[in-house]
Amino acid sequence: MGPQAIITNAVFNAFLKCKMKAHLLLDGAEGVDADVPRWQQGLTSAFEQPALQRLRSRASSGQIFEGLPPLRALESGRYHLLINPVISVPGLRADVQALERMTVGRGAPQYAFCPIRFVPNAKLTRLDKLAVAFDALALSRLLGWSPPVAKIIHGPEYTTTTVHLPKLVEEARSLVAELTAQRASAAPPPLILNKHCPACEFQTRCRQIATEKDDLSLITTINERNGQNRMPRASSPSRNSRTRTARAGVRRTLRHSG
Ligand code: SF4
Repeated sequence: MGPQAIITNAVFNAFLKCKMKAHLLLDGAEGVDADVPRWQQGLTSAFEQPALQRLRSRASSGQIFEGLPPLRALESGRYHLLINPVISVPGLRADVQALERMTVGRGAPQYAFCPIRFVPNAKLTRLDKLAVAFDALALSRLLGWSPPVAKIIHGPEYTTTTVHLPKLVEEARSLVAELTAQRASAAPPPLILNKHCPACEFQTRCRQIATEKDDLSLITTINERNGQNRMPRASSPSRNSRTRTARAGVRRTLRHSG
């Protein structure tokens, strides 16, 4: 991996869904199919604001810090809540949504910081848990130890789910190692169309490559995921219709998880 390649939340989350997508993001590629990712980002942002407000209401203003304070202030336990701290360590950058102080151990108070993520969906997936484990991994590299738990606030009731971290952080660590090895390899990962494709900003690119390779199985896969029969190559659906179909899929997921 080149010295400038930093694994961010976006790259890590992409790798969980598709190795090619992580590869493209690390290459700085820009996808043209931005409608669905933008729409999903809007849902997340709309959920994040009231969720953050609830967290803020549990701490006095002097205990809240925006960003990442100096390490000494962090370790002193002075702050109860850190909003949007960015944790940069060699090879990793985690844009954490919030860190909340918790007391650990017995006897004299010792403090740990628990990463918090906000997820609009009512039902959590393993990917949601690995995403918060990535935050914990970056934090552990900064502080030298891993927090025991993380929290995910999710769904219309703003439910808080506690996630036990040790095994998940180990899994995140091994995925980061795999991603690092992939990056160091001369060969890009294979293009394998998958269920994430209809919501991916690189859909047009990958569809075109599959078409040029005349790989009918790939083309069939991506069309079936869009709820369509295999289409004649001359009559690809418009980007708008693909976006509508992908959004409907996401809405179905949200409804079923409610
Ligand atoms: S369109 Fe599919 S195969 Fe291509 S990068 Fe996105 S998820 Fe991966």
